[in-house]
Parts: sequence; structure tokens; C-alpha cells
Amino acid sequence: MRQLEAGGWKIIPDATEEDYPLDALVINTCGFIHDAKEESIEYILEALQAKAEGRIGQVLVMGCLSGRYKNQLKKEMPQVDAFFGVDDIHLVTAHLGVQYNPRLATERLISTPAHYAYLKLSEGCDRGCAYCAIPLIRGNHRSRPKDELIAEARFLAGQGVRELILVAQDTSYYGLDLTGKRELAHLMEALCLIEDIGRIRLLYTYPQGFPLDVLRLMANEPKICQYVDIPLQHVSNKVLTAMRRNTTKAETLQLIEDFRTFVPGIYLRTTLMVGHPGEDEQAFGELLDFVREARFERMGAFMYSREEGTYGALHLKDRIPLKIKQERYNRLMELQKDISLACNKSRIGSVCSILADYAITKESPEGSAVRFSGKVMILGRSQYEAPEVDGYVILENAPEVKPGSFAEVRIVNADAYDLHAQIIDKQ
Ligand code: SF4
Repeated sequence: MRQLEAGGWKIIPDATEEDYPLDALVINTCGFIHDAKEESIEYILEALQAKAEGRIGQVLVMGCLSGRYKNQLKKEMPQVDAFFGVDDIHLVTAHLGVQYNPRLATERLISTPAHYAYLKLSEGCDRGCAYCAIPLIRGNHRSRPKDELIAEARFLAGQGVRELILVAQDTSYYGLDLTGKRELAHLMEALCLIEDIGRIRLLYTYPQGFPLDVLRLMANEPKICQYVDIPLQHVSNKVLTAMRRNTTKAETLQLIEDFRTFVPGIYLRTTLMVGHPGEDEQAFGELLDFVREARFERMGAFMYSREEGTYGALHLKDRIPLKIKQERYNRLMELQKDISLACNKSRIGSVCSILADYAITKESPEGSAVRFSGKVMILGRSQYEAPEVDGYVILENAPEVKPGSFAEVRIVNADAYDLHAQIIDKQ
């Protein structure tokens, strides 16, 4: 987006009907799982309808789905002006008459609110999880050089970003392909030195070989959120082996103990998968017991879906009917609901610093379950809430708190998803 902007285009990151007519619409697609593919295709079809009605000039499609199924998509949707793969940014800009400028490679135009941004540490993944198509789509792990990431983070800080969210397919692997060592802690330490960055958050880590020096840093560096997102997928040894996760139940339990010992009070977010080949009732029971005991502050779940070309699709028999997968999913989520609620309620009376994301005066941000109360509401996040996936800390009657600023608050109420708070000096 920054390249096109520098080339004279006006960019509208999330175009809606109100922005039409558009000269061009560039659709970035996901090809991760069946539902994501369907969503991408539905959106392309909607855009083609708008093109047929003369409201969009060109429709360009890029990203994972487009890269993987380009030939098939070209046949099925000939009205799309061009398809591009995941590494074709320079071709997209060239198609729109802008020559890619490498000097702008660390500059970004962000589509998140101006005060937080995702920083992508690497591309691709060297793991071979049986169910996952990502290494087939995005290739092997390639860490970005540390200097380049720091330059990008400085640029973002200069644009008003206060919270950096570190992402990759596997953030804990960062550096291994560059220096032979895991360099995540060193990178995070260097990012903490950027003055205007107030918070650094770590998402998408992997359990096997998790770099414990990151936890030591997290315990001592106030800028680093005491929050780790670690998709564990399962805990039964039988299922972990079938998933080719290269870890065991004992190692998983030890790692959780390490997290809670090194960083007391840490918030853990995980994602689990139900219905993977090999998950019998006993293995699912182990998963339920694990969730009951580990008490993740945040948890999401997926149902296994057979993805073309993966080890699972080629070599494992998917014998679990959809109805059972759905039932296991429901049971797991129901169990977690009580844990999340108890965890949120335990915060009532505590004090925390929030970063205000939105001031809402009529309706909630897209995808949020927050109900507008009739008064101006500030939706913020403490170090324990990541944007988009976790809930908000909600402030009412606090007009002095502006989006992008930090405020000290006391939690006064909680439900399973959101927390309600008051500004401290108002009490
Ligand atoms: S670590 Fe994540 S991205 Fe890599 S193969 Fe496993 S599930 Fe896929």
C-alpha cells in the first residue's frame, strides 16, 4: 500500500460500498483452510459483480489462495484482471503503473488504528504439521534481518504506533535460519529501545524449542506484554504424533509450568484443534482435562479440515464425522467459557494501564460484541488483551481519554469476554 501511495494512488485500506466507484480493487486472499478459501472466493465474486456494474475499474487478486490456485482461478473467473502469488508485490505495483521502490521497503501504510501495528518477523515455516498447508503455500522459514525490522519499527513509531505486535508463522523460530540461534529475545530487547514504542506483544509462538530467554526478558522489561500466544493444538501424545508436532504431553506441561514460573501472572492464549485423525474419545478426554487444569486465560478452537496436499490429507484417514467434531468443539468451548469468565472476574478491583483503541459514539467496531450503551464508550486494551482476538476493557464517561493514548484504570466489572473499568483519578 505504501508503494502504491508513493506512486500517486490514493489508498482506501478497507473499501466499502460508500467508497465506490474505485479505479482498482486489490484483494489479498487467504488459503489456509476451507472456510478462509470460501470467504476469499465470495469476496472476489462480490467484487466482480461491482465491476460488471461499472463501479470498479480493475479487480486484482493476490496472496495465498491466488498463488496456489492461480491457473484454476483464471479459468473459473476470467473477469479478474490479474492474479498474483505471495511474493509478487512488485508485479502488483507494476500492473498499476508503479515501479517497486526498494528504498521504501521498510515503510508501511497500516490498515489498523494508527497506534498499533503488526510487525512480521519472517515468512514461511520449517515445521511440517500434518494438517497445515502453510509451508506448501509460503515456503520455508525466512527470517527478516534484524536491522530491517528495527528500521520498520522506527518508521512505525514515527507514524504514531505505540504497540507493536510481533507475528510470523512461527515467531519463536526467529533467527535460527540467519545465525543458527534463536534470536527472538535479542530482537525484542532491541525493539524495546525505541522510545515511542510503549508495548510489544508476542503472537504465534511454537512450543517445541521455545526460547526461554524471552520469558526472562518478559519478566523484567515493562514494555513487553506479559502475554504469550502459543497455539498448542493438542495434548494427547497419540494425537501430537499424528499431527507431527514434534513435542509431547510432558514437554507441553513443563513449558506451561515454565511460563507461569518465570512470569507470574502471565496471560496465555492458545488454539486447540478437535477431530484430528487419531483423536479418539480417550484423547479428547485428555484434552478436556488439560484445558480444565491449565486454565488458559484465552483459548480458541478449530475443527480439523482435510487440506489438499498436506501430510494429513495424503496419509491419514479422516474418520471422525463432522457431527462428532462439532460436538467436541462445542464441549471444549463451553468448558473454556467458564474459565474465561472466572479469570475475568478475578480482575475486578485490580488496576491496569490500557491503550485506548476506539471511542464509540453509535456502533461497535466490526466483529466486536460490545453493545453501545448510549453514552460515549472508550474501548481499550491492557497488556492482557490482543486486538481482534480478545475482548476490550470498556470505559464509559471518560471523554478525556483519546484513542491512541494510555490511561490508568481500575476494573469494576467483567463478563466472559469484556471488562468494564473506571479511570483511577475519577474515583
Ligand atoms: S507451525 Fe504453524 S504454520 Fe508451521 S506447519 Fe505448523 S501449523 Fe503450519
